[in-house]
Amino acid sequence: MSLPVRTLPIVERWDCHGCGRCCRGTIIELDADDLRRLRAQGWEEHPDYRGQAIVARRGLWRRRDHLAKRPDGSCIFLLPDGRCRIHREFGMEAKPLVCQMFPLQIVPLDQFAYVTLRRFCPSAAADRGRPMDEHRATARDLVERWQKRPRPAAPPPLVRGRRSSWNDVLVVADALGRLVRDATYPLVRRLVHALEFCDLLESCRFDRLEGSRLVELASLLEAAAVRDSGQWFQNRQAPDPRTARLFRQTVFEYLSLHPRHTPDHSWKARWRLLVEATRFHRGSGKASRHGLPFPKATFESLECARGPLAQTVLRPINRWFEAAVASLRFSVLARRSWPVVESFRAMALGFPVAMWTLRLTCADRAPEVDDALEVVAMLDRGETYAPLVGRRHRLRVTAMTRRAGLARLAAWYAR
Ligand code: SF4
Repeated sequence: MSLPVRTLPIVERWDCHGCGRCCRGTIIELDADDLRRLRAQGWEEHPDYRGQAIVARRGLWRRRDHLAKRPDGSCIFLLPDGRCRIHREFGMEAKPLVCQMFPLQIVPLDQFAYVTLRRFCPSAAADRGRPMDEHRATARDLVERWQKRPRPAAPPPLVRGRRSSWNDVLVVADALGRLVRDATYPLVRRLVHALEFCDLLESCRFDRLEGSRLVELASLLEAAAVRDSGQWFQNRQAPDPRTARLFRQTVFEYLSLHPRHTPDHSWKARWRLLVEATRFHRGSGKASRHGLPFPKATFESLECARGPLAQTVLRPINRWFEAAVASLRFSVLARRSWPVVESFRAMALGFPVAMWTLRLTCADRAPEVDDALEVVAMLDRGETYAPLVGRRHRLRVTAMTRRAGLARLAAWYAR
């Protein structure tokens, strides 16, 4: 059974503005239909592609086909004017389905699937375009043609060791949504409320908690989370050394997803990466920039207070968190086996990562909206990036949580 498609309870906007970002640094996996269409287009005979592989393979055990890339990471079909060559010569429907879908993203729940936006696309991140309701018919059409039509998903556990029903998951998701969208507080405070809510929920005994009892409990915990979170802001403290090290390791993973990062697989680049990883581990002296064109800085200078960000700069980051929570994609897409509270923490860790990255990006100047849009692109890619949704990262997030590190990190880097 294929699920009906709905838009989010918040308004998202998008239209393609042809910037071509989705054709750089992304891996476009191809299914059997895509391969058939590409073969029928006869690119091997095309003078510009003769002798070049247009499909590449990766994976040792399970081989997967994807569109080949140029050495700079851009798609082999990207034209200098930012347009797609397949689209130009054969039309929209001739492209691989992933390209036709982008930036629409389908999040399957049990009774329906949400259609939301990958905010890796700068137009989606900036809410530029028509409301998503106007794209719903296109999304339905694409989903109908899609080989992997959304099927009802199994509910993720709410907390470790406890199986949950979809009803329970939706009660908790609603509570997290209310906390993250509560416009009476700044974003950092709202995320800390939600983190506190997760901690309180995890400390509850769940034996008889479901249905109306869980609704009641969630509302009590929401109030308690808001009341108890003030401590993190009264006297903001730097994270302890172990949390700080785990945090820098996380930032290091995220920086390779920054849209200005160019993949380089040369031995020289690998050696540089090793040196930079060591510097991130140490966390003192010259700050590594992961090959990114950012001004020079030291790790120490990145710890200084910078003052609050302008609302226009914060807005795309704010919207990214709101959409991620409203769609539940933080939990049901790449971290399906993680409990909801742990997935939420991993996503919320993106906030201090974003603030730290803005400091690195801008050095002494004030961040601008474009800087924030790039950071949003980085966060968005992190939600499906294997090193940030795998076991090792889960252990990192758990270790930081045990040391009460996440709320402290958020409050520290928001100042
Ligand atoms: S990133 Fe977004 S705006 Fe840019 S080409 Fe792709 S879909 Fe269009």
